[in-house]
Amino acid sequence: MKAEPHIQLALLDVQAHDLEIDRVRHRRSTLPEAARVTELETSLRKLTDRITAANVEVGDLEVEQRKADADVDLVRQRAAKDQQLLDAGTVNDAKQLTNLQHELESLARRQNELEDVELEIMERLEDATRNRDSLVAEQADLQAELAIAVEARDEALATLAAQEQVAMADRDASAAGVAADLLAMYDRLRADNGGIGAAQLHRGRCEGCRIELTPVDIGRIREAAPDEVLRCEECRRILVRTAESGL
Ligand SMILES: [Zn+2]
Repeated sequence: MKAEPHIQLALLDVQAHDLEIDRVRHRRSTLPEAARVTELETSLRKLTDRITAANVEVGDLEVEQRKADADVDLVRQRAAKDQQLLDAGTVNDAKQLTNLQHELESLARRQNELEDVELEIMERLEDATRNRDSLVAEQADLQAELAIAVEARDEALATLAAQEQVAMADRDASAAGVAADLLAMYDRLRADNGGIGAAQLHRGRCEGCRIELTPVDIGRIREAAPDEVLRCEECRRILVRTAESGL
């Protein structure tokens, strides 16, 4: 393959811009600001699940509390009715009176027991409500933190997008004069060789694989026509001669 020396040098510029584009894209894919957003989103999702569970717990305890209140009311009403009956003085039968008094005593015990249950549920409901409220407050903090993190990530992404755009425009400008077949070969070599398709011959060394060329290879390069597109014998990359090639 043939290419004017200045075109071969342009290929080195294309290579430099491609590496810059690679660097920008790598930075984007490993952006700490993006990782932070993901981390906060995960925390927020977990917290939202916990809030849902806490709300269910509060709701269940509210139902239990209403039931306990109703149970106490029922016993109170029953006791009040018995007490009324007793106070009215209409029950004269001794056995009936004793039964009534026994029932009142038993209702009083039952009421105490039910009021203990009621109190216990009330305490559990208070705890559950406090827990839920604290989770909701935590959620608000996390949402605020996430909003700041999203802003920081978007800012970083915008900076990288601008850098990428500049590098791509520079790359296009450098590639403009390079023949399509040479560019295709460069792209293929670049894809197969860790992002480097064209390298400079610098002081007798290939800058692609960093291996010193043998005197025989150097001799062959000295004899090659300036427009001959050379390849490194070691790594097969396009080898470009410059003023610093040491020839
Ligand atoms: Zn090489």
